[in-house]
Amino acid sequence: MPRKLGQHFLVRDAILEKLAIAACGEHAPRVIEIGPGRGALTRHLLPRTDELHVVELDQGLAARLKSKFAAEPKLQVHIADVLGTDLAQWGGAVIAGNLPYYITSPIIEEFLALDERFPLAVFLVQWEVAERINAKPGTRAYGYLTVATQLVCDVELISKVPASAFIPPPKVDSGAVKLVRKNELPKEKTELLQFVGRCFGHKRKTLRNNLRPFYGKASDALPESGLRAEQLAIDRFIDLYERLSYTDTS
Ligand code: SAM
Repeated sequence: MPRKLGQHFLVRDAILEKLAIAACGEHAPRVIEIGPGRGALTRHLLPRTDELHVVELDQGLAARLKSKFAAEPKLQVHIADVLGTDLAQWGGAVIAGNLPYYITSPIIEEFLALDERFPLAVFLVQWEVAERINAKPGTRAYGYLTVATQLVCDVELISKVPASAFIPPPKVDSGAVKLVRKNELPKEKTELLQFVGRCFGHKRKTLRNNLRPFYGKASDALPESGLRAEQLAIDRFIDLYERLSYTDTS
């Protein structure tokens, strides 16, 4: 089995069913699945929705899916790169997927950039990423992806999934995570996420050194200037962003 495109197929029904329930509950009107592969998760999502859009880059797998589910009117197979696909084109939806691990972070960022019509995502990701998304301040795993995700979503770790649950097994264990979009989102979300990126520009540098190129002397005057971004709790990024954005940096 070729390992290109992160093709590790999940073969444990109990885990697949758990993912489908976490994504849809009893029923979700519309679902988008990223990277359906041979349709293992697809099969568990279909009974729980009226409309399932799957986005698969591999033409051979997509063709197999189309013929396997030819009699299923609820399923629409899109042969495309998920990173170049406008996921909002079919309307609001729940998003699910056993993600291709080489593009996990950009897919999560694509979900974060969507709006309230996309209330939740259930993703299977490499365990190290599950830990990063769910990390606490001051820990090694706490970084840009943690803060970006937790600013926008409440994170729930559904379960750890061993490498042996896949064919072929990947080199690392995986984690199933549920990201639930918060009702109250920070104002200026896009700018705030860009600011968080600047704070973590060089992870070992202080906030003063990371922010000086953008805010000049104003960053030196911050009480937090000697701290590193990994020491700040989520809310403090919002507070810091607001203070710096409305300060005269001339
Ligand atoms: N969902 C299946 C399962 O659980 O067995 C397959 C998951 S496999 C980890 C990832 C899938 O994503 C593969 O089918 C792969 O071809 C597909 N894929 C890889 N890169 C992609 C991309 N850029 N856009 C869409 N699908 C992609």
